[in-house]
Amino acid sequence: MIIAIDGPAGSGKSTTARLLAEKLNFIYLDTGAMYRAVTFYFLKNSVNLKDSEKICEALLEINLSIHFYDKFEIYISDKNVDKDIRSTKVNEFVSFVSQIELVRKKMVEIQRKFSENRNIVIEGRDIGSYVFPNAEFKFFLIADLFERAKRRFKEIRDDSSITVNSLLENLKKRDEIDSNRSISPLIKAQDAIEIDTTSLTIDEQVKKIYNIINK
Ligand code: C5P
Repeated sequence: MIIAIDGPAGSGKSTTARLLAEKLNFIYLDTGAMYRAVTFYFLKNSVNLKDSEKICEALLEINLSIHFYDKFEIYISDKNVDKDIRSTKVNEFVSFVSQIELVRKKMVEIQRKFSENRNIVIEGRDIGSYVFPNAEFKFFLIADLFERAKRRFKEIRDDSSITVNSLLENLKKRDEIDSNRSISPLIKAQDAIEIDTTSLTIDEQVKKIYNIINK
């Protein structure tokens, strides 16, 4: 069974998806982490983001793998990059990298293969609308922009110069790029259930989704 959870950054997708998977005894896939890992690799190797030949070469070279044992983990060439991919620099470039067709093609291929015949909660931007249009359950999480920036502010560890306002601007910019890109933009699938998490606690949003599934 596939449960798709989509929505903009800071809407509570990751934590909700992880906890919901735990509650259901499903595995969990964070597709944002995959786009982040590619961005991290491109930045680290100074890949010219405007040169499609170089991007193609880099995508052939990158040894990206995802695993779920007791939790979701992401590796590049056998190195766990879970922490590296949450930096301010990656935040700045990830939506740009995610617009690249070759990048999306490769990520979607990995996501579909990883999920084959498994009970899984998958979160992202295009999961219900594009990657798994036949998912058994589709949720679309939204939340007020300022609330989302405050949530992200609480998570930041690598940069003490970051303010709620600068995060708000980053989220706004990412929302705009993610929603307006030509290939599989951030969009609510017609049959997705929308959940506004602005005034919900994590526990409340997990329960709400869990109850819908159990019904
Ligand atoms: O969810 P998270 O904030 O980690 O995602 C980082 C970025 O990855 C998003 O802003 C978006 O540009 C991209 N992304 C995407 N498609 C997905 C998941 C994430 O384009 N399915």
